[in-house]
Amino acid sequence: MNDIFRSAALKLTLWYLLIIMGLSFLFSGSLYRISSEELARNTSRQISYFNDELAPGDFNAYRQLRQKQYNESLDNLRGSLVLFNLLVLVGGGLVSYVLARRTLRPIEESLNAQKRFTGDASHELRTPLTAMQTEIEVALRNPKLTRNESIELLKSNLEEVNKLKDLSEGLLSLAGNNEKNLDKDRLQVPEILAQAVDRNLKNAEAKNIKLTSKAASLNVHGDRASLVQLVSILLDNAIKYTPRGGQVEVTAERRDKHVQLRVKDNGQGITAEDLPRIFDRFYRADSSRSKEAAEGYGLGLAIAKKIADLHGAYIEVKSAPKKGSTFTVHMPS
Ligand code: ADP
Repeated sequence: MNDIFRSAALKLTLWYLLIIMGLSFLFSGSLYRISSEELARNTSRQISYFNDELAPGDFNAYRQLRQKQYNESLDNLRGSLVLFNLLVLVGGGLVSYVLARRTLRPIEESLNAQKRFTGDASHELRTPLTAMQTEIEVALRNPKLTRNESIELLKSNLEEVNKLKDLSEGLLSLAGNNEKNLDKDRLQVPEILAQAVDRNLKNAEAKNIKLTSKAASLNVHGDRASLVQLVSILLDNAIKYTPRGGQVEVTAERRDKHVQLRVKDNGQGITAEDLPRIFDRFYRADSSRSKEAAEGYGLGLAIAKKIADLHGAYIEVKSAPKKGSTFTVHMPS
């Protein structure tokens, strides 16, 4: 727990405790008033009862005895109430602290998640920026920089700028996709698949990958742009992680109450070790980080999952190394 939350928890505990103690004092005060009045009434009733029955000397002794008993009873009552309030103070303090921690926990978790996000994002932004900085500094120190070398430098910088653009678009997508920004409508599934395939056709052709699409005429309720983006992310990955000449297939069918959008490839597959983590932000399997491997920042599936969540859908993955992967989006229809 960091300092802000420690002091907030403490303040909240004190407020809760103040309320509990206020109620406890109110309760004790009323109880004391009612009980002492009752005791006083009883005592004076008993004393006046014996007024006529006893001789004056005995009566005085009796009155003193009753008065003493009355004072003792009041002392006992006060002692019990002080003990009661002390117990409330200790018990209430503990309960207040637990309640305060519980109240603050979701806020603390979301703040921590944001911190992690900012940290991860700046880390990823730094790599291309440092590469550009080094190249520019080396070039500036070279007094005999030729035109060709300058062009090479600009080309390489442009590559880094494109990476930064992709990264910032991914980050914006992750931060910006929320319930409010969605424009949900009744959508034709074949249209969504066709648009997503369109976006990825060039990449598939460049790798000589056979990209096929087969969709039953179904409807789903959702935001068109986001759902096209979701299928497109799955297709982009399927093409990226499938060797030249492979096959990628996208299908849609109804199963029970769900519409299933499925992207299947016969590419490199995912190890059982990586499988639980591929939806984490910035996570990339080691094989995807190697030199010749596909470009990316590990944001695609995190974005896909967020879009699925916003549609009440979930993504199921089946994959085996060297055999291929199947990503299925289960959409409520
Ligand atoms: P990126 O593709 O930018 O690395 P993603 O979040 O889209 O990020 O994917 C996370 C990781 O999951 C990838 O780095 C890759 O290791 C693995 N992965 C995703 N889709 C596939 C696929 N179809 N075949 C094999 N591996 C995949």
